[in-house]
Amino acid sequence: MIHTVSGCASVAVSWRVVPHWGRPRRRTTISPLAADAPTGPLPSLAAAPPVPLILRVAIAAPLAGLFDYLPPAQTAPDGLIPGVRLLVPFGRGRRVGILVETAVDSDQDAARLKSVIAQLDPVPVLAAVDLSLIRWAADYYRQPLGEALFSALPVRLRRPDAPLEEGGPGLRATAAGCTLDLAELGRAASQRRILEVLRAAPAGLATGVLKAQVGSATAPLKVLRERGLIEPCRVLPAECDTPVIPDPTGPDLSPEQAQAVAAVRSAGAGFTAFLLDGVTGSGKTEVYIRLIQEVIAAGRQALVLVPEIGLTPQLRTRLEQRLPGPHAVLHSALPEAERERAWHSAAGGRATLVLGTRSACFVPLPRLGLIIVDEEHDASLKQQDGFRYSARDLAVRRAQQVGCPVILGSATPSLETLHNARAGRYRRLRLSVRAGGAAAPAIALLDIRGQAMSAGLSPRLREQVELHTAAGNQVLLFLNRRGYAPVLTCHDCGWVGACPHCDARLTLHLRLHRLWCHHCGWFQLLPSTCPGCQSSDLRRLGLGTERLEEELREIFPHLSLARIDRDSTRRKGELDRLLALIRQREVQLLLGTQMLAKGHDFPGVTLVGILDLDQSLYAADFRAPERTAQLIVQVAGRAGRAQRPGRVVLQTRHPEHPLLKSLITSGYPGFAELALAEREAAGLPPYAHLALLRADAPDLQVPMDFLQQARGLAMALLVDQPGLRVQVSSPVPAPMERRAGRYRTQLLLECPGRPGLQTLLAAWVAQLRTLPRNGGLRWSLDVDPQDLT
Ligand code: ADP
Ligand code: ZN
Ligand code: ZN
Repeated sequence: MIHTVSGCASVAVSWRVVPHWGRPRRRTTISPLAADAPTGPLPSLAAAPPVPLILRVAIAAPLAGLFDYLPPAQTAPDGLIPGVRLLVPFGRGRRVGILVETAVDSDQDAARLKSVIAQLDPVPVLAAVDLSLIRWAADYYRQPLGEALFSALPVRLRRPDAPLEEGGPGLRATAAGCTLDLAELGRAASQRRILEVLRAAPAGLATGVLKAQVGSATAPLKVLRERGLIEPCRVLPAECDTPVIPDPTGPDLSPEQAQAVAAVRSAGAGFTAFLLDGVTGSGKTEVYIRLIQEVIAAGRQALVLVPEIGLTPQLRTRLEQRLPGPHAVLHSALPEAERERAWHSAAGGRATLVLGTRSACFVPLPRLGLIIVDEEHDASLKQQDGFRYSARDLAVRRAQQVGCPVILGSATPSLETLHNARAGRYRRLRLSVRAGGAAAPAIALLDIRGQAMSAGLSPRLREQVELHTAAGNQVLLFLNRRGYAPVLTCHDCGWVGACPHCDARLTLHLRLHRLWCHHCGWFQLLPSTCPGCQSSDLRRLGLGTERLEEELREIFPHLSLARIDRDSTRRKGELDRLLALIRQREVQLLLGTQMLAKGHDFPGVTLVGILDLDQSLYAADFRAPERTAQLIVQVAGRAGRAQRPGRVVLQTRHPEHPLLKSLITSGYPGFAELALAEREAAGLPPYAHLALLRADAPDLQVPMDFLQQARGLAMALLVDQPGLRVQVSSPVPAPMERRAGRYRTQLLLECPGRPGLQTLLAAWVAQLRTLPRNGGLRWSLDVDPQDLT
């Protein structure tokens, strides 16, 4: 079976492509709290369902649709609650699936349906609310449901032999055991004692713990088990991290902070979406903490989504120091076992706080009371491959389904979120001043045309660096390009290092002696002579952080320096070490890429130099201006926290650029007004909704033909339903046409309203899945794409 996301379901499952019965399907979903749950003392396994029950199962594979099965032999129907994992025959093999719903009829020929081999979990791994969120997401993003469901679970649960929970053997009271009149046990005192103890521990007790309380005789246990009053279960060890709370109180809230907290509180526990629009350093995190404290005190769980956890150790520490635990941290860099433990802590209702990156938006939380999405504008909240979803948008959807508040926080809200706030869908809370009275940094443009640059700095900026460091402050220099130099070229013949697999130049990494492709990871060792003409006059063009570091050390030999980018922090713990050095003022000059722009607090920094963003001002993507403005404001926000006023100098060759001018004169809000007006005039998001069909193959003609065919299908659907108002572009090569040896093409769909687009996509994607895929073709659909490259 081919594991591609856009896989088509006809492989290996032809046995189930059978004629429709022609009868409308009646669905009966068994609720986990079914009123007819067994109450007698001995629930019988032999009780057969009254009608042959059809189980509708999503398979852990990139296959669209649900698959119908008959229940496994000898299963009490009450155990078949949607959300349990099942082992099912599939093609010639077997697969793990999740029971999504039950039905009375099947669309397929009942005689040909196969039976489930085994039920893998005694209780659902996903509750009804989780199933419904993920079904909604799979539907909205047009992704196979099985893939979406399993992406919400620990990886291990894709295997049939993996039990739901880790932990040791234990016992718990069954439903019958819980409702039994203890008098019925007569004079069997130890049986009565055991049952009493187990009734008081709904999650079960480890066998050892139980025996310590009731004695180690095994006979009474055996009798109770045989009577169906107790049953074996797995019991997790008690949560070991009962955290100390050194300082739950925190600073007194500023009037604006207090207002924000009060606004969320007074909206009540039900669904309301808030935009917490607060300048960097205004104390958004403090607002989150107060609200989470209240949620935890009310016995509920809080979910905090952040773009990248590794980059924000400070946020994590603050939450840990102020909030009672246990806490669960979930992100993709964790070892699988740790991630699984965190998942269980969340899903078992034990974790009070779940802090995670985008995939945590799916983690089951039985007592969810509040969702926070920090840095909601950040593009990494959108998954860019496989199941392409927006964790921010799903967080809002989830809060709506569960009925709890959701807060989207940012100093530079996305235009989508600002638009929602303007339309009244989100309530806007503002924090306009910095906490603790620190002044907001002033941004100044520095025209570098005709200037004598050294180490990427104009003479004016060099002077400023000297002044600020001499005064005992720290300086941050921002350059959004890692590596040594972006280009290595031959001065004699003009040769440039280019990736053989991508339409991209290789970046020179001097220390590693490599020319590296940042798009596919391909590299070659540094040639000593020109591969074109053998000349030895190879020259380095442009500036990356590695080279900048070298040159800065030359012109500022007296300053201590730290560089923070993906290369310099590759080693585990290195980022923390560098951040600690900076906090301890061991570093005077700090340089780095956008890793520095994310959430760090550098109270000693009084000068920020942004060296070169001119390229991104003119990038092709319509979101480029928005991203650039956000980056500038976020980097600027690192300066002048605490009591020292900050200064931000932005070097540019385009001081007249309207984006820069609006940002300088009226800040991010002013820029956003202008940008929203431009988007509206151009009919772009948030005033239109997009879907991007991407296709690629080793040969350009293959994806172009596929997209042409796809376009034809879409146009035919639109002829039938002209009211949908969807515009379909022509197939075009992607801005980076070739990557990792594959030619990339795309087709853009645009619609003024979401419903119209969704209606078309539903029918269209079903058709696309039936198209043949030859010539190594891969395709994927991206609903609400963030990145059009
Ligand atoms: P943001 O999340 O908006 O960037 P933070 O919550 O990180 O802002 O706050 C910035 C700094 O101000 C932190 O050091 C924080 O401890 C401090 N701070 C926050 N709120 C207050 C307050 N009400 N009084 C004093 N200091 C505060
Ligand atoms: Zn040459
Ligand atoms: Zn490449």
